[in-house]
Amino acid sequence: MKDFPLSDLNPAQQEAVLYCEGPLLVLAGAGSGKTRVITYKYAYLKEAMGFHPSSIFTVTFTNKAADEMKERIFKMCNGSLKNTWIGTFHSLCVRILRAHIERIGYKKDFVIYDEDDQAGLIKRILKDLNMHEALCKCVVNKISNLKSNLITPEDYISTTEGYEFEERLGRIYMRYQTELQKCNALDFDDLILCVIRLFSENEDLLKRYSEQFRYILVDEFQDTNKSQYELLQLLCKYHKNICAVGDDDQSIYKFRGANVFNILNFERDFPQTKIVKLEQNYRSTKHIILASTAMISKNPLRKPKNLWTEKDWGEKIFYCQLCNEEEEAKYITKIIKELYLKGEYEYRDFAILYRLVLQARALEEALRIEGIPYQVISGVSFYHRKEIKDVLAYMRFILNKEDNVSLLRIINTPPRGIGAGALLKIENEAKKHMISLYEAIKRIIKDDSVASNLKEKLLSFTIIIDELSEKNYQDAASMIKDILNLTGYLEEIEEDRIQNVLELLSSAEKVSVKEFLDKVSLVSSVDTWERKKNGVSLLTLHAAKGLEFPVVFIAGCEEGILPYFKALEDPLELQEERRLFYVGMTRAKNLLFITSAKQRKLYSKVQKQEPSSFIKDIPSEYCTCIRKDYSTFTPHKKEVETPKVKPPFVIGCKVKHPTWGIGVVRDYYGEGEDLKVVVNFPGIGVKKLAPKIVNLERV
Ligand code: ATP
Ligand code: MG
Repeated sequence: MKDFPLSDLNPAQQEAVLYCEGPLLVLAGAGSGKTRVITYKYAYLKEAMGFHPSSIFTVTFTNKAADEMKERIFKMCNGSLKNTWIGTFHSLCVRILRAHIERIGYKKDFVIYDEDDQAGLIKRILKDLNMHEALCKCVVNKISNLKSNLITPEDYISTTEGYEFEERLGRIYMRYQTELQKCNALDFDDLILCVIRLFSENEDLLKRYSEQFRYILVDEFQDTNKSQYELLQLLCKYHKNICAVGDDDQSIYKFRGANVFNILNFERDFPQTKIVKLEQNYRSTKHIILASTAMISKNPLRKPKNLWTEKDWGEKIFYCQLCNEEEEAKYITKIIKELYLKGEYEYRDFAILYRLVLQARALEEALRIEGIPYQVISGVSFYHRKEIKDVLAYMRFILNKEDNVSLLRIINTPPRGIGAGALLKIENEAKKHMISLYEAIKRIIKDDSVASNLKEKLLSFTIIIDELSEKNYQDAASMIKDILNLTGYLEEIEEDRIQNVLELLSSAEKVSVKEFLDKVSLVSSVDTWERKKNGVSLLTLHAAKGLEFPVVFIAGCEEGILPYFKALEDPLELQEERRLFYVGMTRAKNLLFITSAKQRKLYSKVQKQEPSSFIKDIPSEYCTCIRKDYSTFTPHKKEVETPKVKPPFVIGCKVKHPTWGIGVVRDYYGEGEDLKVVVNFPGIGVKKLAPKIVNLERV
């Protein structure tokens, strides 16, 4: 066995890394090094135990977490990491399905439908059944919930007799599955269900994969849903080498079917499970840990934990109530600027977390006005923009002519004069002959009884598609270029949208079309993050899972927002909201600010707001309440501000230092002989200098 850096781990973490025979459950609080255990265990299996990377199946919650994990593992492991299986449940399942899906009646080049595509399909079904489109979101969620609980349309229908809404839902679900299959498409839930089906119906494949994956590593186990858990159990049918790490206090995806009881069931389903608890937190200051622990302890259904840290007490948590959302945003921005100018933090060290996507607007505006760089990690993600989805729909359709959803998206984009009447005709033709919409179009073009005007329009579309389909593209970028040229799409859209399409184009270079489409189909909002590296991060509490930032703000801590109003009546939902708040608090390493507003514009109405009831559960000895007067905020010993009379340097100007070269002035204090200037020298860091002593030249 080779040397392995076990000294980077505490004894409990070491125990978890070294225990490799049989099921292992690491149950531990936030920031205690669970993810670190997973990465070290991977490296240990490979480096010390000699496992091949293809034999370790490692699942994490987001693509971003998977990328980060790959990077960390790569640093620790010598040699190549070819053929690794580190990813999300979805991405790993796609890989298995691309190789074997034909065995369960789909074609290999299936497309993956995201939420928008799902909604498009459901709306068509609702229309067909004379039901209101407004039901769409509810239906999508219900179906997803049924799927993640492994309930098929047939199962569901057999239980709904006599319940009108449920009966209808059952019919929609059944139709939805049929339509998906017709389009040779899978939604996200199907990716997992299909692998379960594949393994259940093909013992040889199950055997092959469970022999290949000699070890299973699972991060964020508390948020796996029933189908994901079932898949893990299948993979462990022949051996029980599984290590799952999780924290029941951070289970926040119930609405997507996550089942915190999986943690409880683990010991039942995997007899002789070894349990390791990690109690030392390496992330946060004492104040943050004690405050968040006190707050989460109010949840009745939880496993008690004893988190502690060797870190300093640090600052108390700051809570401030502002008069409205704009003042709140200004307050947050002002603090960020102050801390940045002190030179202790970079902009990338700050995160502003919120419960609702709509809260981002006021925050973004305030940051923009202050000129602070930022990135919104939630909201409409890059791949959900209209222009991006349009181009992707062309690509998907070229690969798979049965993809009716993509066809409907592109048939009149850019406009070709193909309107609702024409679409109805196409749909009827397809239904009549049980064929795809594209085949129906081809039939209509050949039909003598159809007006030549319509036929010409349809022909102009099919000519483009057929020409694009004939070529054998080396990479995704060349296909996109052809799509843009042949359709004239860029001529129809505005400048900023053109920029987005060009960005898509550059990301598509040197990747095969299929690989590119799989990758972009699986990204979630958290993954479009790396775009601007040095900015303040704005993200929802849900998206913040697993991440850490030196300074965290949780905005909008008000009754009705956090906890969300829909959860107020239901004790279980309320507990989930509390866990969400806990996840937010425990992202902070050094400083944590909680804010609320007295009134807020919500859904175009100004409403009076009360502070979140969760705030009361933070003991006052760990929390400083700041009155809305900004000047009372003193997170650090602040130099006495002197009036800045005619400063020789202004913030933002460039200066030259004899040894460190050119830097940017971030702040200055005092005047005359006492003048001190804070300068950031790229690659060297932030320095506080006295121009009296050092020769600083303005450049
Ligand atoms: P979360 O519950 O938020 O997912 P986690 O339990 O996965 O947190 P990690 O993200 O693995 O915790 O670790 C939190 C921080 O503590 C990281 O910055 C990590 O590098 C550091 N850390 C973990 N274990 C140790 C250790 N033994 N020595 C030093 N630093 C550590
Ligand atoms: Mg983690």
